[in-house]
Amino acid sequence: MQFKKCVLVLFCTIICASLWAIEASAMTALVGGTVVDLDGGSPLQNAVILVDGEKIVSIGSADEVSVEPGTEVIDVSGTWLIPGLMNMHTHYGLVLPGKMAAELANETEGELTLRMAQAAREVLQAGVTTTRSPGDARHGDIALMKAINKGQAHGPRIFSAGEALVITGGHGSEHGVEYADGPYELMKAARREISAGATWVKILISGGIATDGGDISKALMTPEEINAVVDAAHRLGAKVAAHSGSSNATNVAIDAGIDSIEHGYTLDRDVLKKMAKHGTWLVPTIVVSQPATADFFERIGSPQWYLDRRDSVGKEHWRALEMAIEEGVNIALGTDQLPHEPNDGTTATAREAQYYVEAGMTPLQALRAATIEPARMLEADDEIGSLEVGKYADIVAVNGDPTEDIKALRNIMFVMKGGHIYRNVIEH
Ligand SMILES: [Zn+2]
Repeated sequence: MQFKKCVLVLFCTIICASLWAIEASAMTALVGGTVVDLDGGSPLQNAVILVDGEKIVSIGSADEVSVEPGTEVIDVSGTWLIPGLMNMHTHYGLVLPGKMAAELANETEGELTLRMAQAAREVLQAGVTTTRSPGDARHGDIALMKAINKGQAHGPRIFSAGEALVITGGHGSEHGVEYADGPYELMKAARREISAGATWVKILISGGIATDGGDISKALMTPEEINAVVDAAHRLGAKVAAHSGSSNATNVAIDAGIDSIEHGYTLDRDVLKKMAKHGTWLVPTIVVSQPATADFFERIGSPQWYLDRRDSVGKEHWRALEMAIEEGVNIALGTDQLPHEPNDGTTATAREAQYYVEAGMTPLQALRAATIEPARMLEADDEIGSLEVGKYADIVAVNGDPTEDIKALRNIMFVMKGGHIYRNVIEH
């Protein structure tokens, strides 16, 4: 026993990964909670979820699932259990215009990566166990993803698009950016990002709020350029996300076989119908343009031109989201803010889900948009996105039934990712 302890301490000091492996290999039972049914059935009360290592090995009622001696038992009674939340649009290294940009003007790559790692730890506290980075800075998010996968850092599962592909004069234009123009350069840039570890490619097909490169409603890339990127990415097994506020640009991108449209600030009903027909995903990031997040932009010292641009798209963005819900477009939650960013007394992720309900979703639909729907978009729904035997034990407990009231997501009581507990504030 003493020897084992010694070995454990030694390994902990040398490689953290060993500690992870040792901790995750113990059997854990979450007992007494109510498991929410994402398919709309009645919830499973007084449930037992057995976790072996990283995976769920059994789920049932207390009289169906026996808990063997030696199992670590966590009492989650009084809570509702849902899959770990997913946020499909976040930038770990996000720098917005104003005070923030001035403070971080000379940030080194080392400093950037450590800032991202700090954010990743906080993301878990917000109940978010999977994120997608549609374009992040200097491959810091890919380094972070690799470190998390190796057990060298704590954070959610990360799906990265590497660095966004920026056309000369388009959204994202700034000093020092390596531009890619024309089908050939864009194809090459897409392959470069995939080769660096990206499983998505991000293109910017209309203008945006944060830079003045191009009009939000204009199509900035040619059909040949969009086709080239989508084709190159799909051939290498990667998917393509397009920043788009524009119906024209989105129309072309759908024909090219784009996988997801980000923001959709001014999408009209015709293009939304087309998205629904093709199964194209919409990641609304509605928090970026709505009143509940005004404090965030004040806090980061956004300049007036930025606030004006944000206000100018707010109403149309909201209408596009309402119509997307009416038309049955596939929607996966994303915020374009850090998932845990404080907004309106909660996190950006919880507020985004609440906005979906305010725009017409049922609470169950909004919960799905934050869990199983993103997993489907990532084509990772055989491993994550719901509480099922054989899937990763990414489990969150909240203190109310989110299918009755989505505001339950405001109170994250317990967070497990891959069998490892990161948060437990359940009081008995
Ligand atoms: Zn973004």
